[in-house]
Amino acid sequence: MNGIAAVENLNYENYENEKNNIYYGNSPEYLKVSLAAAMTMDFVPGIFYRNACLHCINVLLTYDEGCRANCAYCGLQKSREGEYNDKSFIRVDWPVFKTGDIIESTLKKHNIVYRICISMITHEKAKDDTFTILKRFTNELHCPVSILMTPTILKHDDINRFKEYGADMVTVALDAATPELFDKFRGRGVGGPHRWEKYNDILDYSVSVFGKNKVGCHLVVGLGETERDMIFRMQSVRDRGARSHLFSFYQEKGSKLENHPQCPAGQYRRIQTARHIIDYDMGRAEDMKFGNDGRVVDFGIPFKNVAEIIERGTAFQTTGCPGKTEISACNRPFGDSSPKNIRSFPFELNAGDINRVRKELLEYD
Ligand code: SF4
Repeated sequence: MNGIAAVENLNYENYENEKNNIYYGNSPEYLKVSLAAAMTMDFVPGIFYRNACLHCINVLLTYDEGCRANCAYCGLQKSREGEYNDKSFIRVDWPVFKTGDIIESTLKKHNIVYRICISMITHEKAKDDTFTILKRFTNELHCPVSILMTPTILKHDDINRFKEYGADMVTVALDAATPELFDKFRGRGVGGPHRWEKYNDILDYSVSVFGKNKVGCHLVVGLGETERDMIFRMQSVRDRGARSHLFSFYQEKGSKLENHPQCPAGQYRRIQTARHIIDYDMGRAEDMKFGNDGRVVDFGIPFKNVAEIIERGTAFQTTGCPGKTEISACNRPFGDSSPKNIRSFPFELNAGDINRVRKELLEYD
């Protein structure tokens, strides 16, 4: 399944025609754009399911050689068959456009675009090109810029330069909750270049440069960790001054983990609830109680407070870099599930969604 399924009424034929006419070139002159961002900028036609509105333009560096890393769950991994430009990433297509056209189109949508994010990949040119693109974005655009960094190719001074060139927030995609899972799926286990220590060092240094609540940490739920593992990881991220941005693992076709099951809905709902409690300093991992299998049985705060969190629903919306409010501008519509079985809600939950979440939270199968 690809991003086409994430939208209603998309004229697939037009999209395929557009796709065939799309330019192919390398960064910094060209960038990949998420399908949702391409729709927001009117590069491709389509209407979002339930009118989910994207408030963050997500762009990704692009090179003919693709990404040099080999993360087992990622659609861009170098050992996945196919051309880099045809590979999906977090479930959706990422067509390529000229950087200048992206800037022009983003400016036209200034009333709905609250943020733009540059995702690096593991490539020898990625660092310098990120500096170039960041400088253009901060000079020419109306909105704050985030960088989803690749720590493997960065030194401390590069973080200083991101700040100096105008980045508003930076994020480290730790993705795995434990050092063992990180090494198995991103490091030595897959012959990949990434190291747990390096990622954590860049996370800590980034907080010292950008400040508390200005650094994010991507975490993927369902790579084989227990709920307890993930909750203590999120507490560690919080104690270091950052906040966690959650994704529910989703099988990228053709990746090494294409047959790895998605975690049960109950697990993701409990992690979303715990993340909200921890990241907004309403409680701590040490006060939560876990069953023998590591699953949360008590969130460590009064039941009425948990009930209020569920009733409000924001804990179950996509988590990421904020826009005009604390709610994530980066709502990545259907980036971790199909619209029929939403994991991270890209919009406000309605009464039916809240009932579903409440039921799923109690599922322990
Ligand atoms: S949460 Fe979104 S905007 Fe922030 S770094 Fe991650 S992908 Fe970019």
